[in-house]
Amino acid sequence: THFGFETVTGTEKVNRVMGVFSSVASQYDIMNDAMSGGMHRLWKRKMIATAAIGAGSRVLDVAAGSGDIAIGLAKKMGPSGRVVLTDLNGPMLAEGARRVIDEGLLPGRADCIQSDGTKLAFADNSFDCVTIAFGIRNFLDIEAGLAEFYRILKPGGQFMCLEFSRPTLPGLDVVYDAYSFNVIPFMGEKITGDRDSYQYLVESIRRFPDQQRFAKLIRGAGFDLVQHDNLTGGIVALHRGYKV
Ligand code: SAM
Repeated sequence: THFGFETVTGTEKVNRVMGVFSSVASQYDIMNDAMSGGMHRLWKRKMIATAAIGAGSRVLDVAAGSGDIAIGLAKKMGPSGRVVLTDLNGPMLAEGARRVIDEGLLPGRADCIQSDGTKLAFADNSFDCVTIAFGIRNFLDIEAGLAEFYRILKPGGQFMCLEFSRPTLPGLDVVYDAYSFNVIPFMGEKITGDRDSYQYLVESIRRFPDQQRFAKLIRGAGFDLVQHDNLTGGIVALHRGYKV
């Protein structure tokens, strides 16, 4: 295939992920708003606000999709900053490219490069900050991704990951389960006509490690000062770590 997966094992999962994101690419933003009740905007805003970047920083946004994080970071850095959007999926990255062009960020302040987050096409020690929002749970090999993020960060660089996690508020888990297993596939079907993709998304959230286990994986990749914040009662967690 033109995505270069020949050497990757677990082709089935890759095909599944590619299928999901190709089929939802153009409706992706609408679905995000619908499913999260607009809350994904607040979660993303928090990530952008706490990114340790400024004028002149170089940032890589992995699994950039339609570019919400990358655009927010580019605006925060101002004209001297540079953000690279990368995504495995061509149609998703094309959405991102369309958005950064609309925002007047390309060329110069933003670039789009297709690559797999577990085999990044970037040199060692080349970014001040690496972000990934709602992407890592789709990786075939999460640890390989974390090792890549560590490799391409400059010493002192910051890694940030926004991802669905485990509700920590008492009682929230029951409501959340009912919502994810019933409401989300139903809305997926109604809005996009594609129930299976949204069923897959819900299941991928369940399989992803909880706050503590994920923090341990991040430390295992070499990161220091690993911390996380729970957002919306732990439905989402924002993890951070540093390459010292
Ligand atoms: N970061 C964006 C956001 O928060 O709106 C997009 C998130 S979207 C839920 C997940 C993205 O991960 C998709 O664009 C998908 O193509 C991408 N993705 C999945 N597996 C990937 C991989 N191995 N490497 C890079 N991107 C991947």
